[in-house]
Amino acid sequence: MIDFELTDEQKWVVENVRKMAAKEFAPTIQEDDIKGHYAPDTFSKLAKMGVTGICFPEKYGGAGMDYISLGLACEELEYVDTSLRTILSVHVGLSGCGIYQWGTEEQKEKFLKPMAGGEKFGVFGLTEPDAGSDVAGMKSYARKDGNHYVLNGQKIWISGADYADLFLVFAYTNKEKKHEGISAFILERGMPGLSTFTLHNKVGIRAGNVGGIVMQDVKVPKENLVGEEGEGFKIAMSCLDNGRFTVAAGSTGLIRACLDASIKYAKERKTFGKPICDYQLVQEMLAKMAANYDAAKLLWLRAGWLKNKGMRNTRETSLAKWLGTVSAFEAANDAIEIHGAYGYSDEYPVGRFLRNAKGEVIYEGTIEVHKLIQAEYVLGYRKDKELRRRLPAYEPAQSPQKIAAP
Ligand SMILES: Cc1cc2nc3c(=O)[nH]c(=O)nc-3n(C[C@H](O)[C@H](O)[C@H](O)COP(=O)(O)OP(=O)(O)OC[C@H]3O[C@@H](n4cnc5c(N)ncnc54)[C@H](O)[C@@H]3O)c2cc1C
Repeated sequence: MIDFELTDEQKWVVENVRKMAAKEFAPTIQEDDIKGHYAPDTFSKLAKMGVTGICFPEKYGGAGMDYISLGLACEELEYVDTSLRTILSVHVGLSGCGIYQWGTEEQKEKFLKPMAGGEKFGVFGLTEPDAGSDVAGMKSYARKDGNHYVLNGQKIWISGADYADLFLVFAYTNKEKKHEGISAFILERGMPGLSTFTLHNKVGIRAGNVGGIVMQDVKVPKENLVGEEGEGFKIAMSCLDNGRFTVAAGSTGLIRACLDASIKYAKERKTFGKPICDYQLVQEMLAKMAANYDAAKLLWLRAGWLKNKGMRNTRETSLAKWLGTVSAFEAANDAIEIHGAYGYSDEYPVGRFLRNAKGEVIYEGTIEVHKLIQAEYVLGYRKDKELRRRLPAYEPAQSPQKIAAP
């Protein structure tokens, strides 16, 4: 049976994250974006809202909610700005779920718990200067040295890098084995040889921090190896199944923001003696935004439903991410069209929406990468193998912690 009704708990998430985001972030976001300013208290505000551990069980310091609640929080945050949702994507989706799925009990206790509670900000370091879509092109290397690994290399385009406490990074432990020679490690800020930096003047997501990680002979205890040696590629791809889910869910917030801004403007702006919302060519753009919102939302809800059941969702999540982000970009482009010249200025948020949308189209798999994934499925070239560790299915909490009310 398929149920399209949100549970009371999910409705609570929508209502409260919406109100909190409107109160805590909306008043300053346009100015932060214009100045390219990341407000350093952003993560702690998200922690106070209760979303930094939203889908993790209470025993790991989480709120014990389901993956659809995670998606709903992402939608509400991205309604205000993509930079806010990106924090949840890297902290909960990519690194947190990665540790939850693949980490040992000790790692969950030591790393996931403080992440869920919002005391530590976790990020995800896969991309390198010469390796984005082609993950196996990475150069980072981890040499085994007794009870340690010694990591060298550089990661680039890492969301939150300059403010993170924990870094889930990937490096070769055996280059000859290619994909099967990559391993995953948790790095902690303060480890000698580990440094970070910020990238300035990005096209979009300007209220967010994106930067790089430099590893120069970083000694990492073997207890910080996630999964087995050589499982890093599989781990990275399963992390992407979760990160992409949050991006897909966030994209519906962006589409809705474009639609709301466009409806408001189209009702106010008059040309040739009539509000522009009365012109069918303008209505067509609004109708497309509304249709794409529903289509994108149904796609990520399906992926969330699969996650709740602990089922493999690589194909469904990839599709939701691809179509959701492309629809968000199209919605933002049309929103500028509806705003005319005013849309081409910082006076209205729609220019920010377009710049942000392009970022999410690129990260966590470009359009081309997702088309290739989908084609591989339909051609039968891609067969999902059973993973050694699945993302645990949702288990309702005994006493679910609610999202903080504003
Ligand atoms: C704002 C932002 C935040 C990011 N945050 C993170 C993060 O937190 N962590 C992280 O690890 N990374 C992050 N990234 C990096 C992002 O994941 C990569 O940029 C993305 O995977 C693409 O890699 P690339 O930029 O190296 O492009 P490339 O892989 O060099 O691709 C360039 C172009 O070639 C196309 N292409 C490549 N291979 C093929 C092919 N086989 N067939 C057809 N076309 C192909 C691509 O689709 C693209 O159009 C972020 C990026 C941005 C912009």
